[in-house]
Amino acid sequence: MEWDVWAHKFNLLGLLTYVQYTGSREPLKACLRMADLLVGTFGDGPAKRDILTSGQHVGMASTSVLEPMVLLYRMTGENRYLDFCGYILRSWERDHGPHIISGLLELKRVDKVGDAKAYEMLSCLNGALEYHRLTGDRRILDACLNAWQDIVDHWLYLTGAASYNEHFHDDFDLPNVSSVGETCVTVTWLQFNAQLLRLTGEARFAAQLERVVLNQLFGAQRPDGAAWGYYVEMEGKKPYSSQLDGHCCLSSGPRGVALIPTFAVTTDADGPVVNLYAAGTADLTLRDGSLVVLTSETRFPADERIHIKVDSAGTSAFTVKFRVPDWCRGASGREGK
Ligand SMILES: [Zn+2]
Repeated sequence: MEWDVWAHKFNLLGLLTYVQYTGSREPLKACLRMADLLVGTFGDGPAKRDILTSGQHVGMASTSVLEPMVLLYRMTGENRYLDFCGYILRSWERDHGPHIISGLLELKRVDKVGDAKAYEMLSCLNGALEYHRLTGDRRILDACLNAWQDIVDHWLYLTGAASYNEHFHDDFDLPNVSSVGETCVTVTWLQFNAQLLRLTGEARFAAQLERVVLNQLFGAQRPDGAAWGYYVEMEGKKPYSSQLDGHCCLSSGPRGVALIPTFAVTTDADGPVVNLYAAGTADLTLRDGSLVVLTSETRFPADERIHIKVDSAGTSAFTVKFRVPDWCRGASGREGK
């Protein structure tokens, strides 16, 4: 079935995330069976099926299973999963494949990759960045940076939405209505920026996260949190729904919100880094193992004042970095007691 592998991707991602946050390895048994079914079914060998033809959008739907396969390899150390990831990257470059890495390196345009379907392509790129994190392959990072620059330059609405009719079209072709701003695209764009922020520490990715979280992601969520918009357009009514039937975005939206704490405040070699400003508490472990707690009081951006308290039991010095939004003129800070 053409969406079977795509569905396995989300089953794997859900269970692996559960394992990561609970420490319970019980769901791993089901993950291994799913992954072994994929490894046994698809591959280069003569008795194996072609994964590209098992999913829509030039194989980008099925091959986006790359991301959880990398995570599963990292969790288990089983080489057959890493080999399968290599098979997916080779598949992308076959004649009938989407040419994700080579296309982005040569043409630097997302509308020339596969059939330009935004959600599936960004999902593949998120897997590619996990693979890069594992292997250090610079070509993959360069291809993803080219995609990021192209989207920012040509395909981004002011709110951080990034497609209409679920595809990338021509440069600056951004109508206000026409199935604009699928929430799945909003969230995979958010994940893509979070991946690049983790890999590089560059503020330009945090700036995009701020834009999309404040303007498009929360705009897609009904204020009571119980329903989500599928397309959230620049004009008209928001079609909130809580019926899962055919509503992919109902599962994507909450994933986007749940990811915010993973990138709002982070750490680097020098100490804590504040990327997003919101009220809350961040418990951080610095590289020397010492614990730091940052407590933020603010109504930003409704109120321009941000008060951040830093508590540390450690004895070694560290630096706290604050991202100054590029739209913010005349930012100033003051150290208190
Ligand atoms: Zn969707």
